[in-house]
Amino acid sequence: MIEDLVTGLSVPTDLWIGGQWRPAADGGRFDVLDPATARPIASVANGTVEDALACVDAADAAAAGWAATPPRQRGEILRRAFELMIEREDEIAELMVRENGKARADALGELRYAAEFFRWFSEEAVRITGEVRTAPAGTNQIMVIRQPIGISFLITPWNFPAAMATRKMGPALAAGCTVLLKPASETPLTALVIADILREAGVPDGVVNVLPSRRSGAVADAVLSDPRVRKLSFTGSTEVGRTLLRTASEQVISCSMELGGNAPLLVLEDADLDVAVEGALLAKMRNAGEACTAANRMYVHRSVADEFTRRLGERMGALSVGPGVDDAAVGPLVNQSSLDKVDELVQDAISEGATVVVGAARGEGDGYFYTPTVLSGVSPTSRILDEEIFGPVAPVVVFDTDEEAVRLANRTEYGLVAYVFTGDLARGLRISEALEAGMVGLNRGVVSDPAAPFGGVKQSGIGREGGHEGLLEYTESKYIAVQW
Ligand code: NAD
Repeated sequence: MIEDLVTGLSVPTDLWIGGQWRPAADGGRFDVLDPATARPIASVANGTVEDALACVDAADAAAAGWAATPPRQRGEILRRAFELMIEREDEIAELMVRENGKARADALGELRYAAEFFRWFSEEAVRITGEVRTAPAGTNQIMVIRQPIGISFLITPWNFPAAMATRKMGPALAAGCTVLLKPASETPLTALVIADILREAGVPDGVVNVLPSRRSGAVADAVLSDPRVRKLSFTGSTEVGRTLLRTASEQVISCSMELGGNAPLLVLEDADLDVAVEGALLAKMRNAGEACTAANRMYVHRSVADEFTRRLGERMGALSVGPGVDDAAVGPLVNQSSLDKVDELVQDAISEGATVVVGAARGEGDGYFYTPTVLSGVSPTSRILDEEIFGPVAPVVVFDTDEEAVRLANRTEYGLVAYVFTGDLARGLRISEALEAGMVGLNRGVVSDPAAPFGGVKQSGIGREGGHEGLLEYTESKYIAVQW
């Protein structure tokens, strides 16, 4: 069903199963709220376990045909989907502003980044390589081919409703897999629009199935218990990821996990402070801090700490806060519990002696607004340095030596990304090697790139998305011992 929302946009609001828009099996629906007003903008079908299994049936029926579709054809469909997303970028960005609350510039940035995954994997679809070599004993050839892994269950979070969906669907479709996508229930509309774009681009019925649902646990249990499902790709919190890994272990399902982060940002005394402040602002404030890559902890050399903190405070304090539709630089957080958690972490840090340089207050109005905040003198043992803040708050901690900075940066169970700012490239590379992170931004506040392998170490995840590695996650190697 295509519904006209209160926003004036026309979007699908039913389940997308086997090439049809369907209501939920029990007729249930749930509301999607605009975080800037806390009011509903749409009501979406609430997928049941029965619907989830219907998605697996549809994906199964389409699997052989899609795997046998020539890679060039799969690539051209993805390329068309990229073009359609770009043609409709303003409309989709508007939808993301409404359902996620992000600022318009962030929404447009995400939309283009999301579309790029379709373009990148349209190019990768025709570059799935294998290997042939002579066995060391000289008796035969070792041939390795790569085949689609099979039906893939994709679960995405609310903070990047477009990019997390395309970062999974792009490589899965390029590799020849059929998919079931379960978007976050805060932001299902963007995923449904992308499903419609893939249909228009020529994806055959059943290859892509999208199931909004507020029964995530029951749906995941049912899908992961079905032996036809061979892949789970999850992006979300480490806590939920851990539960899913346990469930997936029953059928020994291949898992790619993109989990939480707690990124350190190191500013050495020889850094160009203009570059460091600009980088810190980008690393912190993309998506109002609601990013797994958000700089969560700023470690700054004592000799430049006051200057860096003052300048960052000025920049953060100058950002406008308000609804994305009004072109504010910083939109609301996604919901009440996120807002409460951010404020709680800030108040806890203050009670342990931190000084408020700027912010530290809830915003005005009914939406879930929080003012951009910089804290200095944060105690190294504060909760705010251990937990994902997921909001516009930058705690600054002072260090004296490179060794101390690396030790503090690595003092976490997370290891997604780290940022380093220095005028000495060799020193920056040495520190990059020592940091326990899957990615490092060296004199850069943004690392995300569809052509690069994105992912974390430690409890930030397993596997990589994007780059060449992203496609391999949706393939299995088959070794054939050949004698000719
Ligand atoms: P979340 O873990 O609460 O939810 C993620 C998804 O899992 C949603 O679709 C949700 O409905 C679903 N889910 C929740 N409980 C489930 C269950 N028991 N079984 C199956 N599915 C379940 O995370 P969130 O709040 O949506 O997103 C924020 C988190 O995502 C943060 O921790 C952030 O760091 C992480 N994240 C990581 C990356 C990355 O690439 N590493 C990217 C974006 C977000």
